[in-house]
Amino acid sequence: MTSWPFGSWREVARQSNLLAPDGTLASTIFAEMSALATRTGAINLGQGFPDADGPVEILEAAVDAIRGGRNQYPPGRGVPELRTAIADHQRRFYGLDVDPDREVLVTAGATEAIAATVMALTGPGDEVVVLEPYYDSYAASIALARATRVTVPLRFPDYALDVDALAAAFSPRTRLVLLNTPHNPTGRVLTEAELTAVARLATAHDALVVTDEVYEHLVFSGHRHIPMATLPGMAERTITISSAGKTFSVTGWKVGWMTAPAPLIDAVTTVKQFLTYVNAGPFQPAVARGLALPDEIYADVAARLQAGRDLLVAGLLDAGLTVSTPAGTYFVIADAAPLGFDDGSQLCRQLPQLCGVVGVPVQVFHDDATAARSLVRFAFCKRPEVLQEAVARLGRLRPGS
Ligand code: PMP
Ligand code: GLN
Repeated sequence: MTSWPFGSWREVARQSNLLAPDGTLASTIFAEMSALATRTGAINLGQGFPDADGPVEILEAAVDAIRGGRNQYPPGRGVPELRTAIADHQRRFYGLDVDPDREVLVTAGATEAIAATVMALTGPGDEVVVLEPYYDSYAASIALARATRVTVPLRFPDYALDVDALAAAFSPRTRLVLLNTPHNPTGRVLTEAELTAVARLATAHDALVVTDEVYEHLVFSGHRHIPMATLPGMAERTITISSAGKTFSVTGWKVGWMTAPAPLIDAVTTVKQFLTYVNAGPFQPAVARGLALPDEIYADVAARLQAGRDLLVAGLLDAGLTVSTPAGTYFVIADAAPLGFDDGSQLCRQLPQLCGVVGVPVQVFHDDATAARSLVRFAFCKRPEVLQEAVARLGRLRPGS
């Protein structure tokens, strides 16, 4: 591609690990791996999207909204019934008190909420603390704001938060901590002790916490999601971000939201209104309907995913990989080193030929090139028969098979 000398795109690409040393540009790893799956006909366990629809109630609500003429620009902060449903959801599940008019903003997915927040609240010279591995858009958003990313390592296989490393990441320039729990790509759900350590340090450094909780309902038996805003004193310095995509299996709808104290919502709205202005008019009332669905619907999504996790984890272990069993999310990380593969990126490009499956190399979520060399992330948000076939195919990696 032509490399124009102007603008900040090159720096954004470089900081998001998308610029090769020879100057060529890559697309996001998710787009690249989905294209590879399409090209080869392999089972796509790369990009995290479900292959089945979610609750029929919300699909019908969207159809009703379109037929009912809700097809023009919605209000800038989101349609009132969705903002009210978000506030009700925060109270129902977490006991949090949120004002739907002043403390909620609806966004174009969690992605826009993250980008607009980082752009609104940081600039050159500011530091943003993130867990590493990190979701790819965090690096890009920080680069767009021309702020600086400071990473705190989580490491395979337990991915526990090292509190000393966390403390060392803070400085007088720390403006935000950009947290993610349940965590992509590791599937870790941070414990109360870990969240308390983050809260204590953020408070001591007068930093804000931005917490990406898009997998809040996708948590498995024995684990519990604790929103940062429920910790003592933290609601006043926390921006909580979530999205309908994962909970309701509608990743293409791109309906996200954030809740935060009113002045922070005002600040982020200032930026957001010039990014997309508004989005997803008819899907907003449908998501409001989804958020009001009974607890069984939420439990059902988590139970199905847990069954998917169990199937895939067992298959990966059986094929000879080492696995970090996830506590939540769509994803499991496996180490292919025991099978003699020491480069995950290379392996992911070969996997379609080797066994007809696509995964994502974990290296791309790291600054430390050595941290995850042989690790691959696989998604289990697929129908049982698809996972069964994927497991059978992964079995071809087993030595001697
Ligand atoms: N945060 C995390 C951790 C994610 O995995 C994703 C992708 N689903 C997003 C944010 C983006 O969410 P959305 O599709 O709602 O923009
Ligand atoms: N969140 C999805 C994943 O982690 C990908 C979304 C995207 O392609 N940006 O796989």
